Amino acid sequence: CGIFGVIGVDEAANFVALGLHALQHRGQEAGGIVSHHPEHGFQSARRFGYVRDNFTSQSVMETLQGPLAIGHVRYSTTGSKGQTAIRDVQPFFGEFAMGGAAIAHNGNITNANALRRELIERGSIFQSSSDSECIIHLMARSLQRTIPERMEDALRRVEGAFSIVAMTRTKLIGVRDPLGVRPLVLGQVGDGWVLSSETCALDIIGATFIREIAPGEMVVITDKGVESHFPFRPRKPRFCIFEHVYFSRPDSILGGRSVYETREAIGRELAAEAPVDADLVCPVPDSGTPAAIGYSLASGIPYAMGIIRNQYMGRTFIEPTEQIRNMGVRLKLNVNRALIEGKRVILVDDSVVRGTTSRKIKEMILDAGAAEVHFRIASPPTAWPCFYGVDTPQREKLLAATMSEEEMRDHLQVDSLRFISLDGLYRAVGEAQGRNDKQPQYCDACFSGEYPVEPSDQIESGFEM
Ligand code: SF4
Ligand code: MG
Repeated sequence: CGIFGVIGVDEAANFVALGLHALQHRGQEAGGIVSHHPEHGFQSARRFGYVRDNFTSQSVMETLQGPLAIGHVRYSTTGSKGQTAIRDVQPFFGEFAMGGAAIAHNGNITNANALRRELIERGSIFQSSSDSECIIHLMARSLQRTIPERMEDALRRVEGAFSIVAMTRTKLIGVRDPLGVRPLVLGQVGDGWVLSSETCALDIIGATFIREIAPGEMVVITDKGVESHFPFRPRKPRFCIFEHVYFSRPDSILGGRSVYETREAIGRELAAEAPVDADLVCPVPDSGTPAAIGYSLASGIPYAMGIIRNQYMGRTFIEPTEQIRNMGVRLKLNVNRALIEGKRVILVDDSVVRGTTSRKIKEMILDAGAAEVHFRIASPPTAWPCFYGVDTPQREKLLAATMSEEEMRDHLQVDSLRFISLDGLYRAVGEAQGRNDKQPQYCDACFSGEYPVEPSDQIESGFEM
């Protein structure tokens, strides 16, 4: 998901709508904005579909007034899958002592089922099936005096991955979980302040990037400025390495590094680790493009747009059902026949999850007359589900969970298939020594199966690590 918040500007919701539009790649099912106006109080609009279709009309935007607003773009990782109910669309708003709060969450709470049971037993009435709603109920029950203190209280009970943007009547609040699994950055626009999942959404409103919110940090922003707290026991950070590979936009800066440059470096690593004699390097657009450029530069094999993407389709992976995903590949990607015919083609993609995309593309490219097809993948085999906010399917549906690299190659019927090594990926994100196996520098659970936070809800429902 993507989260965004602004304080201290006229009509903050307009900025939030623009920010969410720049974060649309992080969630396309639904979006919502909550604002606060000194006279009219909290106002909210939550809608299915794209930001551009919902938060551009005057009739919606004129109901979202005031100098303070937050927003969320959703892609379902918990709660109702496939058919998101409107009640699961964030931000969530709760009225309780001290005027209440609205909150938008990116990530996944790994003990949400246990917390929900406990809260329901103690009388909480849940409005949604979303894990994020627990935080509001925990805050409402807290005995602390101020809302930021109640939030600290609540979040100390929560396990898993969370980047949060929240607001009260006068404060904008940002938090990252102690491991800093999901991103969150701070920016400045005029006299106002901005919180955003990614820096690309600061650019769109002309905000200056100030810094990342630190893992385990809570910032409370008022008209007096930014106050920083560290409410959690300090832990060694474990940022999501897959943000570098796929999730973030290539024009964002993560951990001081350009995502684009990291992806290009992944391509260079791949070319060194898994060279092959061929005529063309083609990306599977858009997610494979920077890595394909890196592969081409390092190998000297010409880069070509052998597959053309229809710009009016969203991200395939985020289409919730299998049927739509299967259709999706053809709706979204088409082979550029004139380039491909008779050629030995290296296809570069960011990841193989279920193998749907790669299988379809291989068929399309052979139909177009390619002489050979070689897959090069910019991440290690995805053998484990993510429980921290990226919607990977159940383990059985992951190609790499049941097959070796050779078996996957045979299954996809391609001439060769190679994935970047975990060490190669770490080098590409700037860890010259590769992965520190004793204390990994990132979360890489979907590749390694080493979960930095125990997925306790999952274990309870039968998941075996
Ligand atoms: Fe990111 Fe993978 Fe960890 Fe999920 S499991 S947070 S996708 S690295
Ligand atoms: Mg892709």
